[in-house]
Amino acid sequence: MNRVVVVGGGLAGLQSVVALRAQGYAGGLALLGADPAAPYDRPPLSKAVLRGEADDSTLEADWPALDVELLLGRTATGLRPGVLETDRGDLAFDGLVLATGAEPVRLPGPGTVLRTHDDALALRARLRPGTRLVIVGAGWIGAEVATAAVHAGAEVTVVEALAAPLAGALPVEVGARTAPWWAGVDLRLGAVVDAVEPGAVHLVGGERVPADVVLVGIGARPATAWLAGTGVTLTPGGAVAVDGGLRTGLPGVVAAGDCAAWESARYRQRMHVEHWDNALHAPAVAAASLLGGDERYDPVPYFWSEQWGRMVQYAGHHPAGDRLVWREPEDTDGAWAAFWLAGDRLVAAVTVDRPRDLVQARRLMAAGRPVDADLLADPGVAVKAAAT
Ligand code: FAD
Repeated sequence: MNRVVVVGGGLAGLQSVVALRAQGYAGGLALLGADPAAPYDRPPLSKAVLRGEADDSTLEADWPALDVELLLGRTATGLRPGVLETDRGDLAFDGLVLATGAEPVRLPGPGTVLRTHDDALALRARLRPGTRLVIVGAGWIGAEVATAAVHAGAEVTVVEALAAPLAGALPVEVGARTAPWWAGVDLRLGAVVDAVEPGAVHLVGGERVPADVVLVGIGARPATAWLAGTGVTLTPGGAVAVDGGLRTGLPGVVAAGDCAAWESARYRQRMHVEHWDNALHAPAVAAASLLGGDERYDPVPYFWSEQWGRMVQYAGHHPAGDRLVWREPEDTDGAWAAFWLAGDRLVAAVTVDRPRDLVQARRLMAAGRPVDADLLADPGVAVKAAAT
């Protein structure tokens, strides 16, 4: 293989380049990214950057040692066999890594989104005491932006169509446990946006919520529209469909990160997660496949969120579970955990300020060990001791 092109200058793109070199690939290598900025980390954008505690989240990379042609501010527009089409001409390749990530879902009107470094700085500049911020969506992004906005003294209203915060990602009964955290904001649950207009958000039912700034945080979609009609198979949700080795159906073309959905033997279904940990680790398998290896990517997915002064962590895949077990210590300042079981196997866990529980639960899931539900529910027992 003489020339590999990596499309997408985010974490998965950078990790692909790093993995290719680490695995001994010595040929030509180009990293193409639509964003003109060098690869940066996104989780800090809704945390330290938005709170004003950091300005920059550029990812560290030894560019000279990587010996990669950096083609930033350049967008892939199409694909033919052996040729990547871009807005500034064609690039020939023998191997191609698709790592174009995801784009936030927008609403018509003047609402903003938070995905890029520029988005974060622009939003931060507008979070001032008294600013009326309306956030559409009480999901992970909504929670973290609301946390920063309250900290900045803004007047925050959150409009959420579902019955609880985080209910797009977690069952309502679990998301509802976080509702008290939102005490500093006007949280409208079961409220649906009709239209976003200059100066206001209109709700179905006629209410007008005044807004100086509207932040739309209603999820993201794989940034794969440019692949339509290229022969790359996309899932109904728009992700690149890849096998357990992260290969697309096209020879020499692999995909990793937010844009890819892989076949999981662990969960017996195709998995699509938009998590940092996935963008960090999947590229090593994609690179190995490109170089002729036969590795499998089949992790226990992991995600974290920092909101309202709490660390929320999630591991696994709770739809695979059929039973929910709570672990609720009485004397630890709002820390708790919930576990999903399928039969006697642990399949997912969410923890609040209990990182050790999460780490141990993830290990049990990875090992597929049977567990005792009563021991899991007991906050005085280490999670790892629940293995039977
Ligand atoms: P991306 O980061 O989206 O990178 C893809 C890159 O491809 C982008 O730079 C884009 O410009 C480029 N691109 C797109 N289309 C093209 C094209 N046609 N041509 C060329 N380039 C293109 N996850 C967690 O687990 N925990 C968190 O706390 C957390 N916080 C987050 C906070 C924010 C504000 C955001 C936005 C995400 C957060 N995430 C978090 C998710 C995590 O950041 C993503 O899973 C991760 O960034 C995915 O990396 P990626 O490289 O696959 O995609």
